[in-house]
Amino acid sequence: MNSEKEIIKVQNLVKKYGDFTAVNGIEFQVKKGEVFGLLGPNGAGKTTTLEMLVGLRKPDDGTAFIDGFDITRELNKIKEVIGVQLQSTSLFELLTVKEILHLYASFYNNQVSIPALIEDMLLTDKSKNRIKSLSGGQKQRLAIALALVHDPKIIFLDEPTTGLDPQARRTLWDIIIRLKERGKTIVLTTHYMDEAHVLCDRIAIMDQGQLIALDTPSLLVKNLQSDSAVEFRFQDESLEVDLKGIEGVKQVGNHKDTYVLYTDDLQTTLTRLIQTASDKNLKLVDLQTRTATLEDVFIHMTGRRLREG
Ligand code: ATP
Repeated sequence: MNSEKEIIKVQNLVKKYGDFTAVNGIEFQVKKGEVFGLLGPNGAGKTTTLEMLVGLRKPDDGTAFIDGFDITRELNKIKEVIGVQLQSTSLFELLTVKEILHLYASFYNNQVSIPALIEDMLLTDKSKNRIKSLSGGQKQRLAIALALVHDPKIIFLDEPTTGLDPQARRTLWDIIIRLKERGKTIVLTTHYMDEAHVLCDRIAIMDQGQLIALDTPSLLVKNLQSDSAVEFRFQDESLEVDLKGIEGVKQVGNHKDTYVLYTDDLQTTLTRLIQTASDKNLKLVDLQTRTATLEDVFIHMTGRRLREG
């Protein structure tokens, strides 16, 4: 039994696909009982990391310890203590919800009560339905139920809410929060900043195979040292404005032709920006202000958005 506070320790994990390094020497630890998020844009290396941790891909370098067991040498032991929901679980479409759960449970010595699990995942009225008739949200809840049949201590969820409608997403968030309340440790990947903010105790932000920040959601935002963001475009492209020189501006980000000014003095920055634009006969369009978010942490560090578009 491992009674250490850190239930996952990742040490210098590396994964290459040919010449391309998808995960480039990342290190982090996950504490027992926390929801830990890997947040980053498409292609950042989140899924590859998760797949190495659950034994689906072999690291090219480094290792990780899950509940004290080494992923490069003790996968059999790790499989007993982890539950895994992957992005595209192919389910036996013709089985019913109840049948597939009993089937999966039969692979393990340690089994939970299937009716209770079905109820927890809000699938009671679907338990006799074939999987192919379920909605996207119901299928996703079933995929999580399948990860829980052996009562694992640690649950890995790969983009659990991608493609779901807002209501189905919230239902899933509630389920994840309940799992945490029961003492489970959860590692999830997501590219939704709101999801990471709501669910995660700590977040590792990943970009291009590396961890670029790791902290609680509120400290990540606080460390920006700018509580507000001012976003706008110029109607005509203008390179002559010194945006960094505007009073209060701590940092300037831009994406395509949209600029984001980070400031700790919103009123002054806004006033000066409008003044500067008028002095130069420039028209500001799509101007908006907002409180800084995790998305801003990402823009701040990389100059790009988490989600393109
Ligand atoms: P997404 O949100 O799109 O799943 P991600 O952060 O999970 O993104 P990964 O799926 O881990 O990212 O992919 C990281 C990088 O590795 C991407 O550039 C991807 O194209 C590449 N990659 C992933 N799997 C393979 C593979 N089997 N062969 C070659 N390249 C791969």
